[in-house]
Amino acid sequence: MPQLLKEKTALILGLANRWSLAYSIARAFCREGAQLILTYQGDRQQETVEELARELGAARVMSCDVTQEADVERLSEMLRAEGDDLHAVVHSIAFANKDDLARPFQMTSREGFQLALEVSCYSLVAVARAVAPVMRQGGSITTLTYLGSQRVLPNYNVMGVAKAALEASMRYLASELGPQQIRVNAISAGPVKTASARSIKDFSKILETVAEKAPLRRPTDPEEVADAAVFLASNLGRGVTGNVLYVDSGYQIMGI
Ligand code: NAP
Repeated sequence: MPQLLKEKTALILGLANRWSLAYSIARAFCREGAQLILTYQGDRQQETVEELARELGAARVMSCDVTQEADVERLSEMLRAEGDDLHAVVHSIAFANKDDLARPFQMTSREGFQLALEVSCYSLVAVARAVAPVMRQGGSITTLTYLGSQRVLPNYNVMGVAKAALEASMRYLASELGPQQIRVNAISAGPVKTASARSIKDFSKILETVAEKAPLRRPTDPEEVADAAVFLASNLGRGVTGNVLYVDSGYQIMGI
């Protein structure tokens, strides 16, 4: 099999540890021959991410807190200074206060609502604006979303609202960046035990239900999500933009 991302440079944002979906995606991109640029949020993850970056043979790794305009600008400057074209971007970032993922939705604070929307949704807009100028030959931007954008899932709360806004932002970006041949899509992954997922109260119940009820009768394997990200970033996905691609063992089709 030819490597699907050979001679492509990919920026992956949101790698925190080995359980991150971004890590599975980075491994799959590496397998397919992509040159990787990785970002992480801040000092807390630096050592871990740098170790993973070495393991993956990443060309570059840098911190980028997406709530900091200066960090996004620094990322943009670095990409421009490198002078190389960027072909693929994966936005694998979300955050909400743990309290807001454990109590009734109506109790969500104004600050908690703004924070969740800023980190989990607006960051895609800011990143797209920063990377588009260096995606000179066009390319692919992929974000990660979840079924809680469309349906009510216990305790997903404000993150469901953020994911709905993220999916709508994805469509507006796809429409605007399409003429530059930049495709923008979302992968709606089934539940996977990661650091972020563990902050949702009773997350293990969601995991069990999906594994039991999904047409494929098994939980989502992060490698399946990563392979879908490879497809979207590669030439095989060249006609696909503005889409939400479900990689969830088929769970989203079920009524009950
Ligand atoms: P994860 O490993 O915890 O990844 C989330 C990432 O977001 C972390 O690297 C985190 O960094 C980063 N982040 C948070 N705030 C940030 C900020 N201000 N600036 C930059 N980065 C920031 O969990 P994950 O499950 O892989 O999540 C990745 C994406 O997949 C998220 O969009 C999530 O909603 C989505 N998703 C997950 C599932 C699931 O079941 N796991 C299902 C569907 C979709 P720190 O760790 O340093 O805070």
